[in-house]
Amino acid sequence: MGEVELLRGELARREQEIGRQVAQAVALDLMQRGTRTLEIATPLNFVWAYVYSGEWIADCPSGCGNAEFVTGKHPRDRGVAGTRGAPYAEFVCSCCRYRCPISWPAEAGAISAVLDRRPVPHTRNWFPRGHALAVATGIPTGQSVDELLAENHDHGVH
Ligand SMILES: [Zn+2]
Repeated sequence: MGEVELLRGELARREQEIGRQVAQAVALDLMQRGTRTLEIATPLNFVWAYVYSGEWIADCPSGCGNAEFVTGKHPRDRGVAGTRGAPYAEFVCSCCRYRCPISWPAEAGAISAVLDRRPVPHTRNWFPRGHALAVATGIPTGQSVDELLAENHDHGVH
């Protein structure tokens, strides 16, 4: 591949990233004003990574109802604290074949490290702010690493 093609690819990637960040900012602004849920405000051109029972997953935005693991791990390591799979950049739905980029929190590694200290896998959860599933079920969203650490502390996990 020539240098020009590489630069074009990098430019396209950056444009996509900027578009994603703008879309996220608009979605968050709408949610903070209480006019939209994340599900409604978020366009279909990316998915949000979140932690469910210790695994980073994302819901298919096409409406097919599927969710996918979004890290590369051996199946035997799923649900095992302390095992890290490389984060995927792209979501690919194994059900409907929808593809789009994945939005990761900047502190994903630290979130995993704090959650992995919890001995019970189903207590290892983290949702981005306003995540519809969490909001619908009364689970906190947008927690900081410090807030997760405080939860650990409250339950005797260090
Ligand atoms: Zn799908």
